Amino acid sequence: MSQRDWGNGGYYQVGTSNTWVAWLSFPTPDGGHKRRVKKITEPNKKRAKIRCETELKHLQRLRDEGIQPASGDWTVETWIRHWIDTIVKTTRSPGTVDTYTQRLGARIAPALGRIRLAELTAEDIDRWITQMVQDGLASSTIKSHLTVLRGALDVAAKRGHVEARIIQGIAAPRQARGTIRKLPLTLEQADAVLDYAWDAHPALAVAWTLGLWAGFREGEIAGLRWTDVTPPTVKIRGQIRRYTWEHGCGEFTNGRWPCCRRRGASCPRRYRFLPPDYDAVHIRGGLWWAPTKTVNSNRDLPMSVKVQEALVRWWPIQRQLWDDPTWVVTDPKGQCAIPAKLNDWWKKDLAAVGIDPARRSLHAARGSFATFLLEAGVDQPTQVGLMGHSKYQTTELYITVRDEHMAEAMSKVDQLAKPPAQIGPPTTP
Ligand SMILES: [Zn+2]
Repeated sequence: MSQRDWGNGGYYQVGTSNTWVAWLSFPTPDGGHKRRVKKITEPNKKRAKIRCETELKHLQRLRDEGIQPASGDWTVETWIRHWIDTIVKTTRSPGTVDTYTQRLGARIAPALGRIRLAELTAEDIDRWITQMVQDGLASSTIKSHLTVLRGALDVAAKRGHVEARIIQGIAAPRQARGTIRKLPLTLEQADAVLDYAWDAHPALAVAWTLGLWAGFREGEIAGLRWTDVTPPTVKIRGQIRRYTWEHGCGEFTNGRWPCCRRRGASCPRRYRFLPPDYDAVHIRGGLWWAPTKTVNSNRDLPMSVKVQEALVRWWPIQRQLWDDPTWVVTDPKGQCAIPAKLNDWWKKDLAAVGIDPARRSLHAARGSFATFLLEAGVDQPTQVGLMGHSKYQTTELYITVRDEHMAEAMSKVDQLAKPPAQIGPPTTP
């Protein structure tokens, strides 16, 4: 059956209101058909008819090209949810799905969510960005919100749900002056926080050692299993991630979920979609053990003396505390540690030894390791490999060139400039 056999559709006025509806039947995959509509608000009868004709032609063109018009009543929120739920979910990592969903809920939906997609204007977006700047959001945060909106609108424009020119004018605000860098710990500070942790809670001393002296990410610290510890190397194969539960009760329509609960975690039919090739293992609650971020993150690290000592010291202590230890680092109950909690404990430990925790998250321990590598004179390709990166540009972001290191470099230049030592006894004129 050809597309044309589905009829030419039509349009009508709703009662005596200003609302007009253009409609056309589309074939459905199951062999049936579904009527798709486009609503128009127009008080002038003549103009309404012209606009309906245009809408009808647009629908016919979509049908001829075999494109299903998504529901004509998309709002910004329902559209972005649909986009995340179908396109993002199948093309990006589960972590990205979570980030995008979080951005949608935090800033996009409250400001723009209820606007009909077809009625969204560039000025709505301008006002939204201005509001975020006024609320004092970092430009990097604003940019990450824009990434989500732009991504969703790009697809919407290709399908004719919004006009392409809306997206073209979106501009990210400039970067605030004085970029905020993470601060690495000095050798003395690293020793101080480790000494403190060994006395206070040895499991965390192991965690901090893995960060400071092997450059582990938070999730990698929590995800290290004893089976990964194979002297003389330690294998990094996965990380602990927290994935957000999704609603399994149906589609988000009219500003709510069928179960009437807001959070996916409270949905009676909650579930979590993970790609089939994703070897994630469910631990408990929202916690999963997931494969490392990239192929390069999958790495076998030679054990440094610091790491070796820490593991040797920790092993018998853990044996005394808990019976079945899968995880190297555990929370106070002997369970798999939650990365975000590790970060809280890390900051408390820093404060306990008089180090300001601002700009020194647990991720800064990884930055300290990168900085130590530079100060030890390790070459760039090896730095990249040990950090689990694919290119030096990423490693560079973790490295801080400290004043002491620059002074040392300058003294090397001085050495070079020194006159050569005289050979043999001084000659007398
Ligand atoms: Zn639900």
